[in-house]
Amino acid sequence: MASHGKGSLLKGIDGSQPAAGAAKSAGAKGSSAERKNKIVAIVCVVLLLALSVFIVTSFLGGETAASTSEVRAVIDSESGELIEKFRLPEGKSFPYVNPKTGRNTLYLAEPCFWAKDGTIKVHPTWVLLNEFAGKSGPTICPDCGKPVKSHNPYPVIR
Ligand SMILES: [Zn+2]
Repeated sequence: MASHGKGSLLKGIDGSQPAAGAAKSAGAKGSSAERKNKIVAIVCVVLLLALSVFIVTSFLGGETAASTSEVRAVIDSESGELIEKFRLPEGKSFPYVNPKTGRNTLYLAEPCFWAKDGTIKVHPTWVLLNEFAGKSGPTICPDCGKPVKSHNPYPVIR
């Protein structure tokens, strides 16, 4: 209601000031028509935005699906180097080529979220499984001393 009053006031400025009652009804009529136009304009803009967002996301989605693959943490079995964000080459299985050495020595790292004191860490210790490191026996986390296995489970505190 306050905005109605403002609108009619502004309208009244350019013409001669009509009677209070006439101004009120004329102002209300004008602002409701204006409001309709505004709503139509806003709806158009929103629709256009939604359409462009849809086009952009579908385009990007198609592109990412085509050109990118999974990003995982890997460890070099020779140097022990950890690469936390390694883009897995598409259609290839491990060991992956280490771009630094050119050698096929990168294996998927397993995350261990256990902290030494039995709590859960936000950033895991990344562990290379013994089977990939060429060692026998169960893999032990160098940080907390707990066993680590393939698809290492997230800790459950009992
Ligand atoms: Zn651990």
